[in-house]
Amino acid sequence: MTELKNVKGVGPKALSLLNKINIYTIEDLVTHYPFRYDVLERGDLTKTEDQGHIIIDGKIESVPILMRFKAGLNKMNFRLVTQSGVVGVSIFNRAFLKNQLQVGTGVTVIGKYDKKKNVITASEIKLETLSNKVKIEPVYHSTSGLTNKSIATYINMALLFYGKEIPDYIPEEYIKKYNFLNKKTALNIIHNPSTIEKLKEVTIRLKYEELFAFMFKMNYLKYENKKNNKGVKHNIDKEKLNKFITSIPFELTKDQKTAVDDVINDLESSCRMNRLLQGDVGSGKTIVSFIAMYASYLSGYQSALMAPTEILAVQHYNNLKQLLKDKKVSVELLTGSTIKKEKQRIYQELKDGKIDMIIGTHALIQEEVEYSNLGLVITDEQHRFGVNQRENLQNKGIKPDILYMSATPIPRTYALTIYGDMDMSIIKERPKGRQPIKTYVKSNNEIKDVLQMMLDELKQNHQVYVIAPLIEDSENESIVTVYNLKDQMMLAFGKKYKIDIIHGKMASGAKDLIMQEFVQGSIQILISTTVIEVGVDVANATTMVIFDANRFGLSTLHQLRGRVGRGSDASQCILISDSDTKRLEIMKEVDDGFVISEEDFKLRGHGDLFGTKQSGDMEFKIANPRDDYKILLQAKKDSEKYLLKEINNNENMIKEKLVSSIIHS
Ligand code: ADP
Ligand code: MG
Repeated sequence: MTELKNVKGVGPKALSLLNKINIYTIEDLVTHYPFRYDVLERGDLTKTEDQGHIIIDGKIESVPILMRFKAGLNKMNFRLVTQSGVVGVSIFNRAFLKNQLQVGTGVTVIGKYDKKKNVITASEIKLETLSNKVKIEPVYHSTSGLTNKSIATYINMALLFYGKEIPDYIPEEYIKKYNFLNKKTALNIIHNPSTIEKLKEVTIRLKYEELFAFMFKMNYLKYENKKNNKGVKHNIDKEKLNKFITSIPFELTKDQKTAVDDVINDLESSCRMNRLLQGDVGSGKTIVSFIAMYASYLSGYQSALMAPTEILAVQHYNNLKQLLKDKKVSVELLTGSTIKKEKQRIYQELKDGKIDMIIGTHALIQEEVEYSNLGLVITDEQHRFGVNQRENLQNKGIKPDILYMSATPIPRTYALTIYGDMDMSIIKERPKGRQPIKTYVKSNNEIKDVLQMMLDELKQNHQVYVIAPLIEDSENESIVTVYNLKDQMMLAFGKKYKIDIIHGKMASGAKDLIMQEFVQGSIQILISTTVIEVGVDVANATTMVIFDANRFGLSTLHQLRGRVGRGSDASQCILISDSDTKRLEIMKEVDDGFVISEEDFKLRGHGDLFGTKQSGDMEFKIANPRDDYKILLQAKKDSEKYLLKEINNNENMIKEKLVSSIIHS
């Protein structure tokens, strides 16, 4: 395809500005869709107020008079005949337009109308009249130095000269089926719409195309993965595995059993496992991953479990060690804070195959880490890892089976998109004997009640989490911080109970220590930021108090709440906020993470849902999987059918351009 720099008007400076907004190719340029449109409606002099904004078209009646001032400034005056009367127009610093503003020329003037003087002070003059009563003007995301007008010009130049080169990702048959316009025409219209109806029509077409290409790619990846057969084929000693499962101190729930079956089937197959295990917080995903690791071990392979935080990695490590204490399995922990010498030893032993199972953080995917025969990789709280990290992990070892675990239930729409290339197991049911967590919404005036509720629990030897949005004071002094809270809590409970702090900026050794003390029960009140959010499991903690709860998304609150209610004792979650209480009230009614994530989604979009934003993951240019769910489903259906047909016809015929359409790279 022609290079971007060949587009008329795009010099080196424009090129670097365009790069700044992620436009590198002509295709990027012409699919830089407007993020909104300004609708200009032709005004009427008689109906416009004094000093009101006006857009009006007409014919120039008098030769423009040009006045030049100091410092290169200038002003032009002329009379304009419009449908609602004759009006004076003045415009500053457009001397360069003088030759084009001939008597009789039709123009559109945008500006402010001084009714008494009957003069419009124009901010803009367009050398065309409004062809209809309305003009729809695209507005683009840009960067400083790049005007909306120049973006529009580059796009139109690119379309004019190279429009035919832009690939259309919708196969012929679907273009026909849905009576879609061709790509070039559609792009022309989206950038220069003449009517709202036309705009709507091509928007649907372009959304469909984007979703079709995306879903095709997802389906294709899934298919490739299945076809390649290049995964590890685990030969598992089922008798030993079942014995291990019965040795677990509790009985698996039905959903857990099904998930284990899914995973074991995948492990045994020669296809590579690429499975997402979704389950609400507290549903017991971890044990499923431990069973998988043990199965992998039984068939002679190493396995790795990657957690997003050190706290969680340590917790998993301790639990797995405990579970395997009678067995000869070698389990190790590798995190950022593992000392160098120890790291070196672990690297060596992983390479030599002396370590069977490794648990850790990102440290597991560092360059230096080599495995002897890695057969299974598990990532916990998978939504916290970006795509690149996911891929890094996949590239380790031969082609290990991969199990992703996510505790943030993902609405179906999003699951279809970001995880469209994966198989899915879902744990809905919670382990037996869990009592529902009672949720309260309290205002700051009711702090006394909250302290009383905490005290009641502490007296029963239960533990309490207290959450603040920030660690330390920032400019905004009204936000509660971990350190403020510690002072408050010390005042209220410091004499009788041990209170401590944990947060993301602490050295990891210190964090571990605190966490250990909390697990052992020697700390009764743990004050924290959301580091506690993912995965931490202390059954004796029965109360979760969240300050400034309005600052968190519902999914985050649900995750935080999920830290309690892990044992058989009744638990409670108290949300403190003076604002946004209507949204928070949802938490009282709903305890199904899937429902909550849908709500969150409606309220805040997907940003919060996935914790950290995953760049590259969800960057649709025009479609929005939630709003365009119907189109998404249709595109999914069509692309599946199309893929199947292409596969049956001729494997190699699969449209190169579709597969390489890197919407999700
Ligand atoms: P999550 O799915 O949020 O990661 P965990 O795996 O941490 O949940 O499990 C939460 C708690 O429930 C753990 O203490 C775990 O040992 C316990 N658990 C898991 N499965 C069961 C079960 N079937 N019966 C009883 N307790 C269980
Ligand atoms: Mg977990």
